[in-house]
Amino acid sequence: MTDLIDKRPNFYGFSGLDRSAHIREREGWLDEVLDRPDTMLVLVWRTRSFVLEIDGTPPRAAMLAVTEHRHLVPLAESVAFLGEFDGVAHVALDLSPLEETDILNTLAAHGAFTDLRRIGPLLERFDGSLLAYARGLMWWHQRHRFCGVCGHPTVSVKGGHQRSCSNQTCRAPHFPRTDPAVIMLVHDGERCLLGRQKIWPEGMYSTLAGFVEPGETLEEAVAREVWEESGIRVRDVRYHSSQPWPFPSSLMLGFHATAKSFDIVRNDDELGDAQWYTVEDLAGFESHGKFLPRRDSIARRLVQDWVESVRPELYEAVDRVPSAYPVRTT
Ligand SMILES: [Zn+2]
Repeated sequence: MTDLIDKRPNFYGFSGLDRSAHIREREGWLDEVLDRPDTMLVLVWRTRSFVLEIDGTPPRAAMLAVTEHRHLVPLAESVAFLGEFDGVAHVALDLSPLEETDILNTLAAHGAFTDLRRIGPLLERFDGSLLAYARGLMWWHQRHRFCGVCGHPTVSVKGGHQRSCSNQTCRAPHFPRTDPAVIMLVHDGERCLLGRQKIWPEGMYSTLAGFVEPGETLEEAVAREVWEESGIRVRDVRYHSSQPWPFPSSLMLGFHATAKSFDIVRNDDELGDAQWYTVEDLAGFESHGKFLPRRDSIARRLVQDWVESVRPELYEAVDRVPSAYPVRTT
């Protein structure tokens, strides 16, 4: 799967899961899958994921065997086929209508519901990708219970990958949405432009980013966002890689871009600070109480790959700069 790109694969993607998109739409497919003895259930409760955390070991996705937990299926507000891994089907259940304490009364030995963004960097790739996918899809179901055309209730169809309006004169189909966002490392050959939002952990700096607007190319969105946030003009916008970021529904499209102006005019509404940093500056971040983006983010990948291209001898030093989030060590 990772031979799809010539770079290090971004986290939350490249799980190796076979989504079987060509067969999941078959009538009765979900029931068929739930009848298999080896099918695994992936639980979501509101915006949280079911995870097993034991002191001293990294957290992991707490998947449940359908054979032992079939009673949960009719309690779920939404059920969706996620895909197969090594022939084993994985099905997401949204248990949001239940009280958390009621669920955990019987399932506490298996795990607990937690915010994937808190523990994401500690997970194995497959677990991180699967939980992010389940969370994103269940969140979409939660927010599209009514038709945006006529206001009638919608029902989940096609293995949980579409909702259809129940009003027979409307019947509008609704598909899971993914919102494209551009994220870019702007550089001038020797320095890179990093900024921080006021709500971020103290000292954390990252690449600039923003949502793509209707009628706009990705390259235009990169140039516009950089201009709006920092007053910098860019040229030579080059695609790097992408990353699903379903918190709640983004697809991050990563770019490198070259600056053609250099005086920062910061938009106070968007950023709390923005500065040019050399690779040496980045390597010394920790001693100045600064952090780089979290290790499971494409932002960190954009920074690290730029460092490798201009000062490969400092790659390791920058790689050691902590993020303001936990790190997997085993
Ligand atoms: Zn409708």
